[in-house]
Amino acid sequence: MRFTYSRVSKMSAKQEFVNKAKEGKVLVKKCTKCGHLHLSTVYFCQNCGSKGFENEILEGKGSVVTYTIITVPPAGFERYSPYAWVVLKLDGSDLRISGFLPNVATPADLPVGTKVKITGFDDRGIILEKL
Ligand SMILES: [Zn+2]
Repeated sequence: MRFTYSRVSKMSAKQEFVNKAKEGKVLVKKCTKCGHLHLSTVYFCQNCGSKGFENEILEGKGSVVTYTIITVPPAGFERYSPYAWVVLKLDGSDLRISGFLPNVATPADLPVGTKVKITGFDDRGIILEKL
């Protein structure tokens, strides 16, 4: 029973995150003691070790830190090619999040520092768009 319960609660945290991503937002866990932000559910604050967290909603906007252009996509993703798998740093925090940016074929299409925003979430993961 305990195992079943923890599986369900993990799935709903993920679903909560997905729902926010669909609204262009990022759900993060904020330490109630020191304010440190965490992207996923953690048991102890990575900064101060405290166990208290509250939800915080960030705007899903940031700048490109690094990325990989995928011209030979994995099975099932052919119709999206070419695209970039992007790591962005969220505005107003040090958090980094990765997502899928369509229509990127060469590095000239996506200089590091390009502003992007989250526009949705589907089977590809987080979907991004250039601002
Ligand atoms: Zn903390």
